Amino acid sequence: MSADRSILKPCPFCGNLPELDAKRGFRRIGDGTIANAVSITCGYCEAEMTFPHSDFSGPVEQLADYLIDQWNKRVDSSTQAQGTRTAD
Ligand SMILES: [Zn+2]
Repeated sequence: MSADRSILKPCPFCGNLPELDAKRGFRRIGDGTIANAVSITCGYCEAEMTFPHSDFSGPVEQLADYLIDQWNKRVDSSTQAQGTRTAD
């Protein structure tokens, strides 16, 4: 399961290109066991999305694609609320 880094949009916070790790190890808080997750991490500002394999309801092979879709999701700036601040 390897994804082409170019399909990831730049970090929404700093603009750096993030890294995808499809088999990132982490320790579960509840029982201390080691488990795997898919993770997308910005190496510059450390913004990150992580999704444990065991928490994904679909096939693990589709988890990276799911997380990439989530990472690439952006608010359409044309629909964002615009401030209407006025000077007193
Ligand atoms: Zn960043």
